[in-house]
Amino acid sequence: MPIIDRIAQFHDDLTSWRRDIHAHPELGFEEQRTSDLVAAKLNEFGCEVHREIGKTGVVGRLRVGNSPRSVGLRADMDALPIQEANTFEHRSRNDGRMHACGHDGHTTMLLGAARYLAETRDFDGTIHFIFQPAEEGLGGAEAMVREGMLDNFPCDAIFGMHNAPGLAVGKFAIRAGPMMAGSAFFDIAIVGRGAHGARPEAGIDPVIVGTHITAALQTIVSRNVKPVDTAVVSVTRFHAGDAYNVIPEQALIGGTVRAFDNETLALIQRNMGRIASGVAGGLGASAEVNFRVVALPLINDPTETTFIADAASELVGRDNVDRESALVMASEDFSYMLNHSPGAYIRIGNGDQAGARQVHNPGYDFNDAILPLGASLFARLAERKLAHS
Ligand SMILES: [Zn+2]
Ligand SMILES: [Zn+2]
Repeated sequence: MPIIDRIAQFHDDLTSWRRDIHAHPELGFEEQRTSDLVAAKLNEFGCEVHREIGKTGVVGRLRVGNSPRSVGLRADMDALPIQEANTFEHRSRNDGRMHACGHDGHTTMLLGAARYLAETRDFDGTIHFIFQPAEEGLGGAEAMVREGMLDNFPCDAIFGMHNAPGLAVGKFAIRAGPMMAGSAFFDIAIVGRGAHGARPEAGIDPVIVGTHITAALQTIVSRNVKPVDTAVVSVTRFHAGDAYNVIPEQALIGGTVRAFDNETLALIQRNMGRIASGVAGGLGASAEVNFRVVALPLINDPTETTFIADAASELVGRDNVDRESALVMASEDFSYMLNHSPGAYIRIGNGDQAGARQVHNPGYDFNDAILPLGASLFARLAERKLAHS
């Protein structure tokens, strides 16, 4: 059996908790019912419960023995603004809200680990069960860190897990160092001079300026970023004008940037500012850039990566743990916790058949078959980190 027997025994409970959470999805920072449920369960297991960290975040503390060692285990609780297309019994009861990223499953796996660890208490030290709100682009992890969560509940190491549709059940994937991209959003406001559409000599056309800036931005990745560093600059918005015969006064460009280290994000920001003002200035207009980082690159600590991969190998065998998995261009705000404390983030297979539907799809569902495996990994991480000396 590749999972902890005692956890396998309460698989049915895990499934019913997961489906209950799935049926009642809540958006970021609105996870009232979900955090109530999490807090009630942690209480029932015998954890010390701390609430309202990062608005709806919850931390459960479980201490055994006198060792000063500590470990953090983290799950996310929020859902997405998606109308669920599934018709099964546990489909969303909340219109326009859906657990389409499997955070219902992550929360349940961590609750399963908490129940087991509180029951068996076979460790020496402190475990922090961290349930964060608002992972989906709203800054839940950053909010918890900013409120001092990792100072008040210090963790020698911290671990997170995300389901991976398409990866077979019983497999894990991870890599040391950068694993998921950091991301930024940007807006560029271009100011020209409005004029009659038939009299361009009387104006400064911000549409032309915007198209030149958009083209020149393509040189950042192709000419400024080192070819061995991966980055993306995408202009995804371009708004200007309302009439056929009016050259508008302004144009607004926006888009997203991805990169795997903070230096590359900073380089892109610098060059974007230079290009926007330089190109606009050369054409007689002006441009102002608003650049905001929305997620740091997710960087796995090499030692903790080996530690979590070894723990996963113990459960499913070495051949089922990919330690050199590909970079992921999507972002994950657990990066803010890893920026503060060493740790690692692993992907757990959600299935290559039934569980292969991608996250953020209205037909997605977390695969209940993997609940005991994920809970077992969380539990083993704590037991191994806090082993009796
Ligand atoms: Zn997501
Ligand atoms: Zn997610």
